[in-house]
Amino acid sequence: MSDAAAGAPLVELRGVNKHFGDLHVLRDINLSVDRGEVVVVIGPSGSGKSTLCRTINRLETIDAGTIRLDGQPLPAEGRALARLRADVGMVFQAFNLFAHKSVLQNVTLGPTRAKGVRKSEAEKLAMELLDRVGVADQAAKLPAQLSGGQQQRVAIARALAMKPKVMLFDEPTSALDPEMIKEVLDVMIDLAKDGMTMMVITHEMGFARRAANRVIFMDAGSIVEEATPEEFFTNARSDRARDFLSKIL
Ligand code: ADP
Ligand code: MG
Repeated sequence: MSDAAAGAPLVELRGVNKHFGDLHVLRDINLSVDRGEVVVVIGPSGSGKSTLCRTINRLETIDAGTIRLDGQPLPAEGRALARLRADVGMVFQAFNLFAHKSVLQNVTLGPTRAKGVRKSEAEKLAMELLDRVGVADQAAKLPAQLSGGQQQRVAIARALAMKPKVMLFDEPTSALDPEMIKEVLDVMIDLAKDGMTMMVITHEMGFARRAANRVIFMDAGSIVEEATPEEFFTNARSDRARDFLSKIL
């Protein structure tokens, strides 16, 4: 962290707007995430949650507003953009592992290719991370030989191998069979307890209750409500949030 950034939120969005053609997908988004904070983003399908996440590592550009990471505006291109991508770990609904690489290689590739870490060092870190997410014994296998829950935990280890400043999770358990959801959420809860800054798109109320500092409810491209998990799930203020909760709970 730079001295200048010490007092700033780790992630800060100000007046962010984004269109896809005529569709106004992000509307005047203001959002700060502090170091060590866990923010859960919830809302109906199509409300802009994934797009919001993707703007933070610049997988999507924005039309207006500013996004800062660690006090610095997001870089547009080049080496600075590669560094940003390393700083912002991302875990998707579909695990997106490299199918023809071993579990171990999936975790070492980023550090060796993008950060120039020596292979032996990358492997040592990878084994530590695989152990942390509970799949060290699967290191030599191909992703397809693992269960969905194990693959998603590998995806988390892979993101952590880049030593990100913040981890973004986009519905990390929604493609999983019910019995595998907990093993992934438990890894995420451990990460949160360990002080990782996280933004998590999920409808898993149990996770929000146990790990989130704040819940953000989005609808039609806007942040409609921001509350503690307890407040949000027991006493949502807006009709739109109450209507949404009545459908998922
Ligand atoms: P959520 O994650 O909340 O379901 P998204 O951010 O994926 O919402 O999508 C918000 C809206 O933007 C949806 O209407 C979706 O169809 C649209 N959208 C998302 N990505 C694109 C894209 N690349 N091009 C055009 N429209 C898109
Ligand atoms: Mg989405």
